[in-house]
Amino acid sequence: MDIIDLHTHTTASDGSLTPTELVAAAQRAGLKAVAITDHDTVDGVAEALAAGAALGQAVAPGVEISLQGYPAQGLPGSMHLLGLFLDHADPDLGAGLARLQRARAERNPQIVAKFNQLGIPLTLEEVAAFAGGELIGRPHFAQALIARKVVANRGEAFARYLAVGKPAYVAKWRFPPAEGISLLKRAGAVTVLAHPGLFKMGLAGLEALLRRLMADGLDGVEAYYSEHDPAYTRAVLGLAARLGLVVSGGSDFHGGQKPDILLGLGRGDLRVPAGLLAGLEERRRAVLASATVTTHN
Ligand SMILES: [Zn+2]
Ligand SMILES: [Zn+2]
Repeated sequence: MDIIDLHTHTTASDGSLTPTELVAAAQRAGLKAVAITDHDTVDGVAEALAAGAALGQAVAPGVEISLQGYPAQGLPGSMHLLGLFLDHADPDLGAGLARLQRARAERNPQIVAKFNQLGIPLTLEEVAAFAGGELIGRPHFAQALIARKVVANRGEAFARYLAVGKPAYVAKWRFPPAEGISLLKRAGAVTVLAHPGLFKMGLAGLEALLRRLMADGLDGVEAYYSEHDPAYTRAVLGLAARLGLVVSGGSDFHGGQKPDILLGLGRGDLRVPAGLLAGLEERRRAVLASATVTTHN
């Protein structure tokens, strides 16, 4: 069976492979297509597309952004949204992503201040060194804590300090769902709710969340994912078919930042069928045909 991977991160966000290295790895893995979906940025997309053209590897431009949820309705308070097959040069998309990056930049000094109050004299410069000039995120704080021997590993860094509700956690600004979905769709993206299994909610709750997101314009759901077991994947496939959502899938590959997750294979047995591309491309044509999309080619 031909396989694809439509959820990966490069050094443009918090992955460890450059876009060129990731595309070369996708080719070695025999992937029919790979999507680049860095957090809050499309900065790696142009390099990935050039590498894909040079190597003959199909590359889909994408992004992963955070959205506010619907906590007042008893639904998750935040979520991740993938935008696939977008126009990465779209100026409105660039402005929207810049807003997210500003929010992230303001958040990092606040996290540093919390560590300092906890008696850990971390500096932003020290954390920035682990980001190598790319967006600073919590994984880089984890690396700085490991280097200081405050914690033994990334898991401990999140469990003790960085996870939601822990002493160094700072909430970050996110787009309201309708606004974030619209931002990506106006750039031609097929919008997909990422890794629903991470909510650890039942299928009735997931259906309520998907119906709410569909009212805000959502196109699809990531049924195939490294942390989804086969039964859960089948259940999400059934739900998507019933609701009229397209289906996507990917590993959430981060390279050495998450060494247990393999490109294309997840924890070893992911295998996202390439047959999903037909449905995604059909939805992409529908998104482009809608009046709100402007192209910049
Ligand atoms: Zn995510
Ligand atoms: Zn991701």
